[in-house]
Amino acid sequence: MTIQSMMRNIFQTKIFTLIFLFLSCLLSCILAFATTPSAVDQQRIALADKNLDANNWLSYGRGYSEQRHSPLEQIDNDNARHLKLAWYFDTGNRKGLQGTPLIIDGVMYVTAAWSVLHALDAATGEELWRFDPQVPREQNYRYCCGVVNRGAAAWQDNIYIGTLDGRLIAVNSQTGQQVWTTQTTPDGENYSITGAPRVVKGKVIIGNGGSEYGVRGYVSAYDALSGEMAWRFYTVPGNPADGFENPQMELAAKTWTGNWWEHGGGGTVWDSMAYDPELDLLYIGVGNGAPHNRYIRSPFGGDNLFLCSILALKPDTGEYVWHYQEIPAETWDYTATQTIILADIDWRGEKRKVLMQAPKAGFFYILDRATGKLLSAEPYAKKVSWASHYDMETGRPVEIEGQDYAEAPAMVYPIGIGAHNWHPMSYNPNTGLIYIPAQHIGGELQQDFNYQRYPRHWNTGVNTDVDMHNAQLSQTLMQTFVEGSLLAWDPIKQEKVWEVARPLIGNGGTLSTAGNLVFQGTVDGWFAAYDARDGSERWKYNTQNGIVGSPVSYATGDQQYIAVPAGRGGGLSQIIGLQHKVTNVNGRILAFTLTGQASLPPVPEMQIPKPPPIPDVSKEVLSQGAISYSRFCSRCHGTNVVSDGAIPDLRHLDQIWHDNFNKVVLEGMMEQAGMPRFDDVLDEQSADAIHAFILEQANQDYQLRYHANWWSKTKQWSYQKLANALKYLSELQ
Ligand code: CA
Repeated sequence: MTIQSMMRNIFQTKIFTLIFLFLSCLLSCILAFATTPSAVDQQRIALADKNLDANNWLSYGRGYSEQRHSPLEQIDNDNARHLKLAWYFDTGNRKGLQGTPLIIDGVMYVTAAWSVLHALDAATGEELWRFDPQVPREQNYRYCCGVVNRGAAAWQDNIYIGTLDGRLIAVNSQTGQQVWTTQTTPDGENYSITGAPRVVKGKVIIGNGGSEYGVRGYVSAYDALSGEMAWRFYTVPGNPADGFENPQMELAAKTWTGNWWEHGGGGTVWDSMAYDPELDLLYIGVGNGAPHNRYIRSPFGGDNLFLCSILALKPDTGEYVWHYQEIPAETWDYTATQTIILADIDWRGEKRKVLMQAPKAGFFYILDRATGKLLSAEPYAKKVSWASHYDMETGRPVEIEGQDYAEAPAMVYPIGIGAHNWHPMSYNPNTGLIYIPAQHIGGELQQDFNYQRYPRHWNTGVNTDVDMHNAQLSQTLMQTFVEGSLLAWDPIKQEKVWEVARPLIGNGGTLSTAGNLVFQGTVDGWFAAYDARDGSERWKYNTQNGIVGSPVSYATGDQQYIAVPAGRGGGLSQIIGLQHKVTNVNGRILAFTLTGQASLPPVPEMQIPKPPPIPDVSKEVLSQGAISYSRFCSRCHGTNVVSDGAIPDLRHLDQIWHDNFNKVVLEGMMEQAGMPRFDDVLDEQSADAIHAFILEQANQDYQLRYHANWWSKTKQWSYQKLANALKYLSELQ
């Protein structure tokens, strides 16, 4: 080899190396760009409402109109049957997934139990970082309905989350480092945040929950970059002696009676919001009264503004523009906090900008969103017993006598669980249909004549002390509806177009796609796709875990993905408890494509220990234990000690917990795991009675479990108990 050829070889190698380096740098830069979220702003979020920016999911409801309709159509009616799991991510926690993930330029941001935020590579599910806001576990007593979180918001380079203990936190979208944090709720009061923030014109809008504990509702706005508070709008009036924050509060106070402020009033803005950039109006949904019973809350009558109302506010200042009160003087735990969807529709021959909602009370409302005028209120629920119809002249419901349970107990449809709760509905502008995770359930309500206010516990003013030890199966209660459905509703014709029956209630939110599909997960563990036009099933997948959260669609690389959080949890799931086989599976995020190659690991075997014998106590003690259990324990550990798996099932405790039962219940031994202490309301004797009742239930369960048909027996047993406890279920969020 000559010197020249050697030099030429080296030169060529160097050139080759340089070209290689250049190309690999270019490739990594492209890859880095592809997986690095670029800034989110008003324009980008608004594009979603024009069916653009198809690859992303930039806000809780995808765009400001909260339609949850993805313009992606790679996955469609014909090929949906080929959907396969592409990846799954294990959150490491079983305490409930209610979220809707955000997807920004190839990165998924998803919130999980205890307000933890995960950033995942949306193509692979690989965790990029996680942010744990370290929510104080011992304050679990004030988190009404599970330690869940429904989602994050994005603006510029930040991701925003609300935490259970009332903080609003900005986190850098690329590093997961905290940028700022602010406490949005007063110290020592029973507020919590489970809802997703929204960002409008550089302001992060956040509400909160806590009506069952007697708080006063409000919504606040913070500067997205600095975290400074910009404005706050209260939804119910405070004590007039303290002065009113604005003229609307003074007007609202005229619709309340008695010393309502001592009960808090309620009206929390715990979930739904939407924004119209053209009208520049922010819409918020206001919740139920505190306590639920209006004769305790506002004893001499009144509409109790702005409970159960849609409010339109100016996003820059929080100034009031209009309101529409769906249910004046609500007394059933009804709310206007369910999904608000904005759309432009042909209404009676003209194009109207409308706002649509299908809240708990069972009526589907359409408002003109410029003025707040009611255009339509027709029942979408199978049975509505509290009102006969809406008077379209006044815009008010016509209540049915006796349904206010003032003089005598009343069977009410829907019960406060709602014909539709927080699980988001979606709208397909092509079919013109709304896809509602609907349910049908009634229950008996009765006045709590011994009402007393507990500072740390639920206060509803509805009698919920059920002696489940002595409960006999009531034929009346067994005849009530307890079923769910996926309901396709035509808002213009005001009628059902199709419906898929669900055996259970509390199913997940819905996703609409331009591939003419509707996706929904169910609380009994299926994730399925349906033809958006006629509801025929196109695909389903056994997810090994109940689904209550909401699916999203996005694209990265050349693939369309459908992703869904799989994990039970939250108020409804906890109270109803065993609706299907409880498994030991953590909450997971599952992502599907047409070419996926992943699979879920096998479900681990459950080991159920033999419970200690029932202590030798009188029937009265067991009854007392059952009543105390229903009042203080069943909200998390489930009706009749039947848990949903997200919270320990007390029938299946290991010996060590029986040995330390009172230390856990009275001394806070497990506070750091989220089990509150109850020594403010229970003494040793009542804790012992609860323990005896739990052991009675555990022994019944253990005997059933070794029966040949244990599963069908257990299910039947569980439903009978559920029916017996419907009075209790009326307390749900
Ligand atoms: Ca409530």
